[in-house]
Amino acid sequence: MREPIPYGRHDIDEHDVAAVVEILRSDFLTQGPVVPAFEAAVAAYCGAEHAVAVNSATSALHLSCLALGVGPGDRVWTTPNTFVASANCALYCGADVDFVDIDPHSHNMSVACLGEKLERARKAGSLPKVVIPVHFSGEPCDMQAIAALAAEYGFAVIEDASHAIGARYLGDTVGNCRYSDITVFSFHPVKIVTSGEGGMALTRDRNLAERMELLRSHGITRDPRHMTQAPDGPWYYQQIELGFNYRMTDIHAALGLSQMRRLDEFVLRRNAVADRYDAELANLPLQLPQRIAGNRSSVHLYVIRIESPDGSGLRDRVFGAMRNEGIGVALHYIPVHTQPYFQAMGFAQGMFPEAERHYRSALSLPLFPSLDVADQDYVIKVLATALAS
Ligand SMILES: *Cc1c(COP(=O)(O)O)cnc(C)c1O
Repeated sequence: MREPIPYGRHDIDEHDVAAVVEILRSDFLTQGPVVPAFEAAVAAYCGAEHAVAVNSATSALHLSCLALGVGPGDRVWTTPNTFVASANCALYCGADVDFVDIDPHSHNMSVACLGEKLERARKAGSLPKVVIPVHFSGEPCDMQAIAALAAEYGFAVIEDASHAIGARYLGDTVGNCRYSDITVFSFHPVKIVTSGEGGMALTRDRNLAERMELLRSHGITRDPRHMTQAPDGPWYYQQIELGFNYRMTDIHAALGLSQMRRLDEFVLRRNAVADRYDAELANLPLQLPQRIAGNRSSVHLYVIRIESPDGSGLRDRVFGAMRNEGIGVALHYIPVHTQPYFQAMGFAQGMFPEAERHYRSALSLPLFPSLDVADQDYVIKVLATALAS
């Protein structure tokens, strides 16, 4: 029997192991020096001034919305082709969520649809406070166009870059926030670099960073400038807001910081695996994913599309055949608006047809830095056989 091939896999080396062990033997398991070191490393890599590490990207998205003042009565728009967390962050704040359909080629939020929906919303007096584009699969969204719309219609932008650390948009490193207010990364093990669990919010705006730092730790401050009175003594702190415990531990930060050494290597390796899929799959009846010239995708996912004419169920049969052969194909994503929780809020099938079409045809092939040629050849062979059957 062959070993099963997962769709994604973390890559941990001895340096990573030693970095975590060192923390376990040190004085601080949490709230020590490594979280700020990890934040500084990611901020420097991306070229953003501020970085706030938290225990997940979900927490980072929540704090980002809160820092931007999202609350009841506000509207937040994102793409339906994403993980539910991109939408839930708005709901945590009591805001309303809505979606913008995707572009059928990039699978990212369609800028044309966004522009049309904004124009309708302006007339109806229902413009969003925040728009959250997601760099699906690691391919950057058209941020210049989104930033232009943000300026015209007066909304803030949070980039959900959970797939896209190490990616580049035109010449810019994703995370430098040139075209957004805040950018969020995930360090879940299937993502590009991992801290076990973890997330980070980057920004150029000091006030936004300070608000997120306050809210990640209970809304408690030790800074006398933010207190309502002079400190009672050196032990003194004040809770000035209702915050959370969203802190990252030093154990997690040590793994994340150690992984940052190999970020570029991981991204290059992922692109090389994708290049090989592109070449070997070119003659099969598939739509291959696009990587846009001038950008660098971090290739978190390699999503092919298999059309199933007349309800033939071809995609489903290919999916089943590959799983039967121990190949961990996956599906990204079930459109968020079709989830029961969102249907109960009034969303329905048919509202975002491109995202729904994508869902019916998409299939994510295994892709991770240590995927070797023999395993990749096996994936390609099983896929080709399943398509022909
Ligand atoms: C993984 C992911 C998240 C959530 O990340 P966590 O770190 O697991 O909270 C959010 N958005 C997208 C697009 C993701 O892929």
